[in-house]
Amino acid sequence: MSDADALAGLHPDTLLIQGGTLRSQFGETSEAIFLSSGYVYENAEDAEARFSGGAEGYVYSRFGNPTVTMFETRMALLEGAGVARATATGMAAVTSALLCCLKAGDHVVASRAMFGASRYVIEDLLPRFGIPATLIDGRDLAQWRGAVRGNTRVLFCESPANPLLELVDLAGVAAIAKQAGALFMVDNVFATPMLQKPLRLGADVVIYSATKHIDGQGRCLGGAICSGAAFVEKYLKDFLRMTGPTMSPFNAWVLLKGLETLPLRVERQTATAARLADWLAERPEIEGVVYPGRRDHPQHDIAVRQMTGGGPLVALRLRADKAATFRFMNALRLIKISNNLGDAKSLIAHPATTTHYRLTDAAKAELGITAGTVRLSAGLEHPDDLIADLNRALGLAQII
Ligand SMILES: *Cc1c(COP(=O)(O)O)cnc(C)c1O
Repeated sequence: MSDADALAGLHPDTLLIQGGTLRSQFGETSEAIFLSSGYVYENAEDAEARFSGGAEGYVYSRFGNPTVTMFETRMALLEGAGVARATATGMAAVTSALLCCLKAGDHVVASRAMFGASRYVIEDLLPRFGIPATLIDGRDLAQWRGAVRGNTRVLFCESPANPLLELVDLAGVAAIAKQAGALFMVDNVFATPMLQKPLRLGADVVIYSATKHIDGQGRCLGGAICSGAAFVEKYLKDFLRMTGPTMSPFNAWVLLKGLETLPLRVERQTATAARLADWLAERPEIEGVVYPGRRDHPQHDIAVRQMTGGGPLVALRLRADKAATFRFMNALRLIKISNNLGDAKSLIAHPATTTHYRLTDAAKAELGITAGTVRLSAGLEHPDDLIADLNRALGLAQII
């Protein structure tokens, strides 16, 4: 029985433990790390056949590596994608997915609420190569429709978006992309692969920073691009081979083991985030809590339609200026200040002065990023301890 037959119809939890495993002649239970840059051949004819694609087998770890293949296969099974390809970082995934298929004269439409570095790539880098981008309010389907031109090749968004958890109607944008003959790419980091399946909603390409929940313990960087086989064959395969944004086999192994516990972690982190959001919403120091799982999220209906949970992140608007917001953050003992997210440790970030510091004040205002805006990434600590930490810090910060 082939591996694919044995795995057909299994639940994601099972696929994430058994899927994609390649065993060496030693029969190891845990996946092996193949820290090898190259491969040797039986003879010169074998080398020739592998290079021409006439024979199966690895040729060089920039092209492929068994540990990286295991991670890629498991990601593809999880995502329900034809193919998943690993990259060194999430940003390598964003940049490669875009650059592999775009050329001078093409046009991109993107939702303006996104990860700071992705915004740099789309807003500053692509135009230098003759690929202009139109940034829009991704919540509004009419703006997507209005921004599409004859030469639009890619529609790009995050949902929920960093940092204020705005949602994009993915099926709605997918339909616009289809009509325009453009590719629809979704950065699915904030939803995690457990809670949202953009490919099922009509997206063509799904992008991950595996650094976040896929690793889940803050150990290493990684990225993944998931799509149908045609996109990989036509655009991505040669781009990755020749430009080399390759994932290290060691990181692939860490991330592969991360996938085994992803469903458990995301379930717990989502439950904790929902509890923290509800508790914070009752506090007088908080002007507003933004959480897709709450009924008061302005796009809660979209969350219900396309996500199976509110996600592990919460955004807060404190009734506070920068100084009082910093006092609150500095008073936290358990929740650590970090721009990272998706860790087992709960983390808090101040987007205006870190992840989005590069934006002008006007651009920050447009995104609703104020001096009192913070982003909270729920970890795996006991939620009662996190609430006690927030309670203590809010008291000490003397916000109101
Ligand atoms: C972290 C992140 C990225 C970039 O990933 P790296 O692994 O840090 O390169 C891209 N998009 C989103 C939404 C992220 O959170």
